[in-house]
Amino acid sequence: MEEQKNELKDLIIIGAAAAGCAAAVYAARRNLNFIVVTKDIGGEVALSGQVNNWPGILDISGFELAQKFYAHAKSYGVKFDEGFEISELKKKGATHIITAKNFLGETREYRSKAIIIASGIHPRQLGAINEENLKNKGVTYCTVCDGPLFKGKTTATVGAGNSALESALMMAGIASKVYILTRYPNTRQTNSGFPRGENILIDKIKAMDNVEILYEADTKEIVGTDSVESLIYEDMITHAQKQIEVQGVMVHIGMIPNSQFVSCGKKNALGEIEVNTKCETDCSGVFAAGDVTNVPFKQIAIAAGHGVTAALSAIEYINKWEA
Ligand SMILES: Cc1cc2nc3c(=O)[nH]c(=O)nc-3n(C[C@H](O)[C@H](O)[C@H](O)COP(=O)(O)OP(=O)(O)OC[C@H]3O[C@@H](n4cnc5c(N)ncnc54)[C@H](O)[C@@H]3O)c2cc1C
Repeated sequence: MEEQKNELKDLIIIGAAAAGCAAAVYAARRNLNFIVVTKDIGGEVALSGQVNNWPGILDISGFELAQKFYAHAKSYGVKFDEGFEISELKKKGATHIITAKNFLGETREYRSKAIIIASGIHPRQLGAINEENLKNKGVTYCTVCDGPLFKGKTTATVGAGNSALESALMMAGIASKVYILTRYPNTRQTNSGFPRGENILIDKIKAMDNVEILYEADTKEIVGTDSVESLIYEDMITHAQKQIEVQGVMVHIGMIPNSQFVSCGKKNALGEIEVNTKCETDCSGVFAAGDVTNVPFKQIAIAAGHGVTAALSAIEYINKWEA
């Protein structure tokens, strides 16, 4: 393990998207001795397609907005250890010990008075046969990123929330034919098969000529070797297996918090880190912000505000810190 000149930092920020970069700007302006350790720059913000609800900017791509967050923090001289994924957090007295690895296997260890966890969320997988083998060969978890690759083809979006509906709507303008598979029946109780979907999106989907909704459809297998060729689902009423020819499968069945490395700090049943209104966890010196927390709405402006709250709370904590 590479032992860095393991000086004690005031703060380590984990993640470099809306929450992490906002926290970094505030920490820098208060002259904290800190570093941002992150897997990538931009996180889900960079994958958000066009963003039209970041106050002050009418229209910007998520990628560009994420770059602006990064540039803003860099303008204060913030140091980013990029490409490093946190694998472990430990606490020794009042000092936090953070271990991170990059994809080459290089390990770094940091010691810090406080931590802000701003590590966001990642898409849930279906668990269908062959899904793993066909990842990036037609199976995608980000329609905004990969949708344009399927121009004129047939695609299937799997899911029953807004993200799935938005995926199918986007694909309706790109692909020649789009299936959307929901496990729910088409009833009033299930909001027409999309219990967590907004009606405005459901109405739009239903009005699309090239979109076919498959209700009570449980995706079982994705078929293909070098690329996706078809999808097999179980009709949940008859239990018959049915096959549809598709070249792309968009999976939108929810997100999982990037909190597996968090050992100190209470998590809820979904794995979200529980924070109070000051972004404090129940582990002293550990703060959390943005989508990785139990904040009820996952949005860029909310994550950024959370990042600011976490930074200000961390500053209060650091000012009183004793070894
Ligand atoms: C398709 C899509 C469209 C969206 N559109 C909008 C929109 O129009 N408007 C809006 O307000 N919101 C939108 N959102 C939601 C928005 O993207 C999130 O609310 C926002 O990205 C949350 O920011 P965050 O900083 O909390 O986390 P993230 O953006 O998820 O960033 C997490 C950061 O942590 C890093 N990280 C993760 N795990 C580790 C680890 N173990 N070690 C080190 N670093 C780690 C990542 O590399 C990343 O830098 C959209 C989301 C999606 C998926």
